[in-house]
Amino acid sequence: MRRRRRLVLWIMLVVIAALVAVAARPAVHLIKTAYRDRPTMVPPPAGTVDDASRLNQTDVAQIVTLADVAGDTFAAQRELAALIGKARREGLRISIAGARHTMGGHTIYPGGIALDMRGFNAMQLDDSGILRVGAGAMWSEVIEYLDPRGFSVAIMQSNNAFTVGGSVSANCHGWQHNRPPIASTVEAFLLLKADGTTVRCSREKNAELFSLALGGYGLFGVILEVELRVVPNERYRVDRHVMPADAFPAQFASIAVGAADAAMAFGRLSVAADAFLEHAITSVFVRDPAGDGALPPLHEPGLRSLTRTVFRGSVGSEYGKKLRWDLEKTFGQHLAGRHFSRNQLLNEPVDYLSRSDATTDIVHEYFVPPEQFTSFLEQLRRIIPEHGGDLLNATVRHVLADDDTFLRYADRELLAIVMLFSQERTPEGEAAMEAMTRDLIDASLACEGRYYLPYRLHAMPEQFHAAYPQARAFFELKRKHDPDEIFQNRFYTTYGR
Ligand SMILES: Cc1cc2nc3c(=O)[nH]c(=O)nc-3n(C[C@H](O)[C@H](O)[C@H](O)COP(=O)(O)OP(=O)(O)OC[C@H]3O[C@@H](n4cnc5c(N)ncnc54)[C@H](O)[C@@H]3O)c2cc1C
Repeated sequence: MRRRRRLVLWIMLVVIAALVAVAARPAVHLIKTAYRDRPTMVPPPAGTVDDASRLNQTDVAQIVTLADVAGDTFAAQRELAALIGKARREGLRISIAGARHTMGGHTIYPGGIALDMRGFNAMQLDDSGILRVGAGAMWSEVIEYLDPRGFSVAIMQSNNAFTVGGSVSANCHGWQHNRPPIASTVEAFLLLKADGTTVRCSREKNAELFSLALGGYGLFGVILEVELRVVPNERYRVDRHVMPADAFPAQFASIAVGAADAAMAFGRLSVAADAFLEHAITSVFVRDPAGDGALPPLHEPGLRSLTRTVFRGSVGSEYGKKLRWDLEKTFGQHLAGRHFSRNQLLNEPVDYLSRSDATTDIVHEYFVPPEQFTSFLEQLRRIIPEHGGDLLNATVRHVLADDDTFLRYADRELLAIVMLFSQERTPEGEAAMEAMTRDLIDASLACEGRYYLPYRLHAMPEQFHAAYPQARAFFELKRKHDPDEIFQNRFYTTYGR
């Protein structure tokens, strides 16, 4: 009897030891990550501006913010007309900024006037489902306003930390598959032009400026107010599918593109070296109205610091990358069948980026036709390791052709591959990222695709023009509408002159 008890005790001890051994490694890894993840970055000094890359700190003559006249479009028009007058007199240029999440100085002109639109954020929803919104409003504010009114944003990025003006000026897109980019949801906007006058642009009136300023990166004037078509907030059930990455286009076509009830969808690709871009987990958000029509209320996203630590633990760590994928696969299964409101899914903050002085995180995005996806993936599997790129995250989205903007990236149905890399903030880190980016752009061009414009300006001019053959005409039209080139930024000085 005593022997048996001792045996049971031993077995229990071995099991506990095994459990501790299994849990110890991830626990130690996450504790170490959390300890190292303390912020060390320094905000840009007064008189300078930077963007989300934290590689573009630049001296400017003046920073002007429109927050004081948040709801008063006429006051904003007067203030901006006076600012344009001053810029003309003093030979200054004006660059426009929303949340500064572009990464190539698209919001910056050295020695210029930096116009900060955040805070110009009043909004009003009318009975026909059109939201009139100040261009400086963040999506987080828009969602908070729409949620109690039963509405939601039709098309936006996968996070909420961007302004409406910055989003339409890049012509963003997100998890809303089977839809063109955001311009398709813009009914009209008020544009304050370089001559100091304000015009309403729509598909019918000032149609040329409508197509140029949407996706126009702030080069045609200040977008003051946008009329956005919004959609009902809905209740979704999440379905998850694990698949080989090469099978993604075919499977995505049947579970998302061709599924009438699927409202949003995206795929995430594995990034650990032992299965680099080999597997995909696809999340499909299926309309699933509750019997009484009740929607889960909007709440603060949970477990943010743990999610961040798991994510940051993948920087420079194969173990961390595998751990994140395994956790996503295992715990993700528990999400399957759960319900979310559309607004909750869209209300994701950008709180996962580097806070360290030594490194920064850089986004890349490439678009290729669905039938070229596997060829492009093969190129990614070769090029990224060749350059030692530290790929933290890769997602795939689906976007339909854009008929609205001049400098369009979605010239047909495309799959978008969005990647986030960690980079050293050193000249060597920058040179390595530039070389890799150029190879990746070549690969996307060879696959009849292109790269997305809001990120680092590493594309060589010939790559830029190959990707955007309409760009020369776009810049000529910029000079027609703004002959003194009042509105400028680094995107323009790099490719536009
Ligand atoms: C972490 C991260 C995730 C991202 N995810 C996505 C995604 O899922 N989908 C996607 O499509 N993109 C994505 N992006 C890119 C993002 O959509 C663009 O960078 C967008 O422009 C950011 O909005 P913003 O308010 O920060 O704009 P800013 O960077 O401030 O400005 C962008 C451009 O718009 C111009 N501009 C801003 N406001 C105005 C205005 N009122 N009038 C005229 N011009 C103006 C600026 O001059 C600038 O050229 C992501 C970027 C980051 C860093």
